Amino acid sequence: MNKKEMEEFRKRLLNLREQLWIEVKHKHAEASDLRDTGVPDPGDASMTDDLRDFLHVLSDSKREQILEIDEAIRRIEDGSYGICTRCEEEINMKRLEVQPDTHYCVSCKEELEEREAVKSGPEQGKI
Ligand SMILES: [Zn+2]
Repeated sequence: MNKKEMEEFRKRLLNLREQLWIEVKHKHAEASDLRDTGVPDPGDASMTDDLRDFLHVLSDSKREQILEIDEAIRRIEDGSYGICTRCEEEINMKRLEVQPDTHYCVSCKEELEEREAVKSGPEQGKI
């Protein structure tokens, strides 16, 4: 990957990061609105708690995504961006365009996902 392409990806990652931040902040605002509204019916109160948990989990996963993007930006800066962190092969450009914060090439990603599915799936031991 040349410098110009790296710079393109850096810009895209920074934009992506900013969008995620806006979403996280928005979710936080929603969650605190719920807390401040006050719920008179005890039946409704538990539902609101669930909803608040949901929003909290959602922004946690967004925060994780932001960390992934930070890592990708760091790798652009040290020149290792676009290289699979597992097998050290170049990651396909099309794949990077779809998911610029990825750390793995397609085959490593598939392998890792398969392992994950074997670990947690109901088909355990049946491969
Ligand atoms: Zn790989």
